[in-house]
Amino acid sequence: MARAEVAVEITDLAVSYGSTHALGGLSFEVPAGQITALLGPNGAGKTTTIEVCEGYLSPDSGSVRVWGLDPVRDCAALRPRVGVMLQDGGIYSSIRAVPMLRHLASFYANPLDVDDLVARLGLGGVRATYRRMSGGEKQRLALACAVVGRPDLVFLDEPSAGMDPQTRLAAWDLVEQLRADGVTVVLTTHLIDEAERLADQVVIIDHGRLVTSGPTGELVGGGGVLSFTASEGLDLVPLRTRLPAGAVVLEGPPGHYRVEGEVGPQVLSAVGSWADALGVSPRDISTGRRSLEDVFLDLTGRELRS
Ligand code: ADP
Repeated sequence: MARAEVAVEITDLAVSYGSTHALGGLSFEVPAGQITALLGPNGAGKTTTIEVCEGYLSPDSGSVRVWGLDPVRDCAALRPRVGVMLQDGGIYSSIRAVPMLRHLASFYANPLDVDDLVARLGLGGVRATYRRMSGGEKQRLALACAVVGRPDLVFLDEPSAGMDPQTRLAAWDLVEQLRADGVTVVLTTHLIDEAERLADQVVIIDHGRLVTSGPTGELVGGGGVLSFTASEGLDLVPLRTRLPAGAVVLEGPPGHYRVEGEVGPQVLSAVGSWADALGVSPRDISTGRRSLEDVFLDLTGRELRS
């Protein structure tokens, strides 16, 4: 990738909090003009990664470059170009939503239209001071604050946490609008549907290390999945001999079975005759395309949600 196209470059990043190794040598790149989701279970190191990118935290080793600059040393140059949405706001507790946004917008040369932003995120009816807002209202205000200065790059930490489904959709629309306007977006999430819906590129991390990364379509591509539950430890060898070429079967968590490949009638009949021969009844049978959850399970042997 040409250098001009990289918004954030993370190389061998390591961060510890005392004896907790939050990041242990993480490397990946964020392409400019796209939405990149940093996906992983709680405790994976997502917030730590973006706090380093935002210049709030210095790494023990490794490096981060944002638009080619050092987030700590070059913070004055980066501040007008980078929008940040923190998990717990960083907003004055006695201020109301709209005055806060107008105040913040006044610091920027070319801010977004505050009235439009307020309408998009349904903040017009929020009269409470920040201290008294609901979790979802605080999130919406924090998102608005992150983008009002029309940054080139925004970091959103769990942007839709605590939002009801309707406001989550409005937040997702806003993020997609940012991309349409050429903004680079990096968001952290533990929600598969958020990553699959929004992200052009997904970076999956676990235990402070990279599990995999790539364009979302490529990660979830490669056919479908038939999953079912049955008793633990069933002999899969006879099923493998029945499956069509290219299909693979594995037991993930005990008692949870998945066949991956082109899921068609041949796969269904192979599973049926195998189960019949063993005298077991598969339960919770479902078919679908591979999801990011399946990708995580394949690569770590664990469920993303656990
Ligand atoms: P995520 O955002 O993926 O949930 P975090 O980056 O918040 O993960 O945390 C990564 C690891 O570092 C976890 O084990 C977490 O408990 C630990 N951690 C995070 N912040 C601190 C802190 N301030 N002090 C001690 N440990 C921390």
